[in-house]
Amino acid sequence: MALVLSGKDYAREVRKSVKERAAGLQGPPPGLAVIMVGDDPASSVYVASKERACRKAGFLSRVIRLDESSTEDQVLGRVHELNRDDSIHGILVQLPVPAHISPDAVAAAVDPAKDVDGFHPVNVGRLWRGEKGLFPCTPMGIMGLLKRHDIPLEGKNALVLGRSSIVGKPMAALLLRENCTVTIAHSRTVNLPAMCSRADILIAAVGRPRMIGPDWVSEGAVVIDVGMNRDENGDLCGDVDYQAVFGKASAITPVPGGVGPLTIAFLLENTLRARTGCFAD
Ligand code: NAP
Repeated sequence: MALVLSGKDYAREVRKSVKERAAGLQGPPPGLAVIMVGDDPASSVYVASKERACRKAGFLSRVIRLDESSTEDQVLGRVHELNRDDSIHGILVQLPVPAHISPDAVAAAVDPAKDVDGFHPVNVGRLWRGEKGLFPCTPMGIMGLLKRHDIPLEGKNALVLGRSSIVGKPMAALLLRENCTVTIAHSRTVNLPAMCSRADILIAAVGRPRMIGPDWVSEGAVVIDVGMNRDENGDLCGDVDYQAVFGKASAITPVPGGVGPLTIAFLLENTLRARTGCFAD
């Protein structure tokens, strides 16, 4: 029977700790600014949750809503203003941005010291070079969860399924930093189930409902499910067939209540780090 790794419980602990540390600071509270371009409904929900989480943690929260038709220069101009604003320690531009705006240009415009999403090329470089920096929230949350449960990492075979800049690649870099032997798999990988079934730690970040069944998982593997999908009934589910894999894994994250809540908790953690200048190793 697998140990259920509750991201929900761990996120609560992290948020409590962030709130306590923020309350103990001398001077202004940590400040997070979120720029949202357009009115994508899913993005509106995420931005509202971020705003709420900031308030609960005692942070200053500012949301800048820009019209869908805003030009890239106008968006970059707002980012530059926030870079200069001393009350703001963390800046993020909610993705997706409209097609006429380059997410790479936006990421590169944010001051690396305020880059709480960890998307700026300087922070990406620091991550892969093993230096201190601000790193993407979801993979940071997963590493925290693994450590919280004393999951051994050194020397383990870790397979990250998915190579996005938001989840897959930074996840692989963080596991490498912990001395895992890391494989990154993706849509062109050959013999995917066989590759996955050799992993001691399997991280699924694909976005395909219940794609990973028991044949893909080795006996006793640790299974982390990043996927957030809707199945044919409209129910929220992960990339892993949880019920079928549960009996084979030694530890597993559920969906919902697994990785999902960690992202905002680590956004707060990153904002606090940006405020104090204590970056993650
Ligand atoms: P993404 O940018 O769409 O990347 C998906 C990755 O999966 C790509 O690297 C793609 O390969 C690979 N892939 C797609 N279909 C595949 C297949 N059939 N076989 C093997 N690989 C396949 O997605 P993402 O942003 O990384 O997000 C992944 C999932 O995590 C989504 O469900 C998303 O909603 C969820 N997510 C959750 C959180 C959270 O819980 N807080 C945060 C972020 C994302 P190629 O590169 O070859 O195309």
